[in-house]
Amino acid sequence: MIDKILIANRGEIALRILRACREMGIETVAVHSTADRDLKHVRLADESVCIGPPSSLESYLNIPAIICAAEVTNAAAIHPGYGFLSENAEFAEQVETSGFKFIGPSAKAIRTMGDKVAAIKAMKESGVPTVPGSDGPLNDDNERNLKLARDIGYPVIIKAAGGGGGRGMRVVNAEGSLMNSIQLTKSEAGAAFGNDTVYMEKFLEKPRHIEIQVLSDSHGNAIHLAERDCSMQRRHQKVLEEAPAPGITPEQRAEIGGRCAEACVAMGYEGVGTFEFLYENGEFYFIEMNTRVQVEHPVTEMITGVDIICEQISIAAGNPLRFNQQDIKVRGHAIECRLNAEDSKTFMPSPGTIDHYHAPGGPGVRLDTHIYNGYTVPPYYDSMIGKLITHGNTRESAIARMNGALSEIVIDGIKTNIDLQSDIINDGNFVIGGTDIHYLEKKLGIH
Ligand code: ADP
Repeated sequence: MIDKILIANRGEIALRILRACREMGIETVAVHSTADRDLKHVRLADESVCIGPPSSLESYLNIPAIICAAEVTNAAAIHPGYGFLSENAEFAEQVETSGFKFIGPSAKAIRTMGDKVAAIKAMKESGVPTVPGSDGPLNDDNERNLKLARDIGYPVIIKAAGGGGGRGMRVVNAEGSLMNSIQLTKSEAGAAFGNDTVYMEKFLEKPRHIEIQVLSDSHGNAIHLAERDCSMQRRHQKVLEEAPAPGITPEQRAEIGGRCAEACVAMGYEGVGTFEFLYENGEFYFIEMNTRVQVEHPVTEMITGVDIICEQISIAAGNPLRFNQQDIKVRGHAIECRLNAEDSKTFMPSPGTIDHYHAPGGPGVRLDTHIYNGYTVPPYYDSMIGKLITHGNTRESAIARMNGALSEIVIDGIKTNIDLQSDIINDGNFVIGGTDIHYLEKKLGIH
C-alpha cells in the first residue's frame, strides 16, 4: 500500500492529486519553488519542502532535489502530474532506483512512446490504426523516398522521431521540395532533439483530434474510458475539450477503444494513458501516446463517473482495476474550458494578483483551480490557472451550463481568456459540433 505521496508538480493538478490522496487516506508532501510558497495545495499538504528557486529547471525539473525531498519526508511514491518530469524516462528510472514508486508506467514504456517511430511500430503490431507512411525512419536513398511519397500521395509530412510540442515537422506539397525538406527537418531535429531520425506520413488536411483514455493495471487488465474531442486548438495547444466526441457512434467507440485497451495489454502497459488520433472521413489515425494523466481528464470523469487520479494511484499500489469494460457507461456530455491568465485577444500572459474572485456553481458545474482571492499568479510558469468543466444529460445542456458558469465566474486583477471561451461556445459551428483542428485559428484569423 502507498501511505504517503510526494506531488512533483504545481497549480491545479497538484491540488487535484492532493484531493485524491485525501479521499484515499494517503498523506501528502508538496514540493514547491520559492515563487510558489502560497500555492493552495502547499498550504493543504501534510508536509511541504521548498526545492529551489522560481526557474523550473532548478525546481520542478530538478530531479536530485525532488528525490531528496522524498527521502527526508519518507514518501512511498511520487506523482509527477502532467508536464514537467511526467514523461521523463530518466526521472521514472531514478525514482524507482531510489526506492520510491513512480506513479506512472515503466521507464521503458515512457521511452518507447517518446520515440515516435518506435511508438508507431508498437501500435501497428498491436492493431491500432496509424497514418499511412514510411513505417520507419527515412534513409538517404532519394529514389526510395520519392517513391514512398508518390505511393502515399502528396501532401506528406516529414516528422522528427524525437519531436514534441508541435515542433520538428514539415509539410511537403509537391515532389520538387521533398528532398530538401527531408534534409532540413533532419538537421533541425538533430540540433533540437539530439536525434536526427525522421519519418514520413500522409498529411491529413482537415482532421479532428480525438483521443482515447485508457486504464491498465499490473495484472494484465486494461479498459478504455471512451474518447475526448480536443480539436479546438491554437498553436497545437488545446483550448477546449469535450467528451464524448460529437458524431462518434458507440460501435466506433467500442472498436477503437477496444484496440487501444488490447495494445496496453500487449505492451504490458501500467497506469493511465491516452492514445491520440487524428480523425478524418470516419477513420482514426494514431499519432502519439501520452503516458501520463492529461489536463483534460475531467471531461472523461464526468461522463463515466470514474475518478481517474484515484484509479491511477490504486494501479500504482498494485491493485487490480475495480471496473471491467461492461461497467463503463457513457452518461451525458461534458465540456472543459481551460482558463488562462492571458489576454483574450493578444494571448499575452497576464501574471499578477487576483483581487476579486467568485466561483460559479449549480448543477453539473465543476471548477478545478488553485486560485483564491488575493492569490498572485507568478510569471514563471504556464499561464493556465484552472479548468471550468460542465456536465449535462445532453451536449446542449452542457453548453448552456458552460454559458451560465462563464458569465458567473469573476476573476479580477489579471486578464483572462474567459471572453474567448464564451465566443467559442457560442460559435455556430461549435454548437453544431465536429469542427477540425484548424477551425479556431481560422476563426481567430491566424494561418
Ligand atoms: P507533438 O508530439 O509535437 O505534439 P504530434 O505527432 O502529436 O506531435 O503532432 C502534433 C500536431 O501536428 C497534430 O495535433 C496535428 O495538428 C499535426 N500533425 C501531425 N501529424 C500530422 C499528419 N500526418 N497530418 C496532419 N497533421 C498532422
